Amino acid sequence: MKEEMFACLNRFVPAEACAYCASLWEKHPFSFKVTRSRRTKLGDYRYDPRSGHHTITVNGTLNSYAFLVTYLHEYAHLLVRKRFEEVKPHGKEWKKCFQEVMEPVLNQNVFPDSVLDVLREHMRNPMASSQADPKLAVALHELNKEQNGTVPLMSLKLGDSFVYRNSAYQRREQRRTRVVCTQLETGKNYLFSASVFVEVLNPEAFEEMKQQRTLGTFEQLHYLDEGTVFQLGKRIFKKKKLRRTRVLCEDLNNRREYLIHKDARVKVVEELEKA
Ligand SMILES: [Zn+2]
Repeated sequence: MKEEMFACLNRFVPAEACAYCASLWEKHPFSFKVTRSRRTKLGDYRYDPRSGHHTITVNGTLNSYAFLVTYLHEYAHLLVRKRFEEVKPHGKEWKKCFQEVMEPVLNQNVFPDSVLDVLREHMRNPMASSQADPKLAVALHELNKEQNGTVPLMSLKLGDSFVYRNSAYQRREQRRTRVVCTQLETGKNYLFSASVFVEVLNPEAFEEMKQQRTLGTFEQLHYLDEGTVFQLGKRIFKKKKLRRTRVLCEDLNNRREYLIHKDARVKVVEELEKA
């Protein structure tokens, strides 16, 4: 059961906080649901007095830091329920519990600096919602925003792939303030600073790149001229227009158009003469 909880949390909270979050669940188990995005709330806590059952839900679309803060917020409600009789939902008892469960993760190993400072400030007197604190809400939201198409490495989840200086990597575990990343081409591990900005690579593009690295010489799709004919897998395409992070390509077999990630490595078949 703990392994299951760990595996689930691993997908949603920063890697460094995963074991801690699982240990909280082990101390006081509850039903845990990761939900779709809800407009009205980031998460909630429910208690069924008849069965004595606790339920915590968190929106699965939150970034890992917002997810962690919400998880601990709801867990603090559970502690309040265990320790006190009828008290206000976000009263001083809850604030104490929230501070207590936040304490072990309120550090640089878990949160990026941009969030840590405002979160420390917020935790002195936490409000009913992280959304109610505009500074914290902005700092957490800022991590979602792509900066020139890049995001901080620490915001990626375990196993996510990214491009850094023209090489593709896969994000592995975090070690203190550094993150182990495996370079796709060489299979070598490198330590990255957790705050470096990287370009997110979608899993399909990464798989494509992985399959092709053994086949000889390949080029990244977006470096090719328009009209170039290339092979991807078993199919032959002609490169057309670049659209943001994808390239419109025509399958020369069925004449249908497909969007292929610009970082996909493809095998050039021939350069078409320009009319
Ligand atoms: Zn609450």
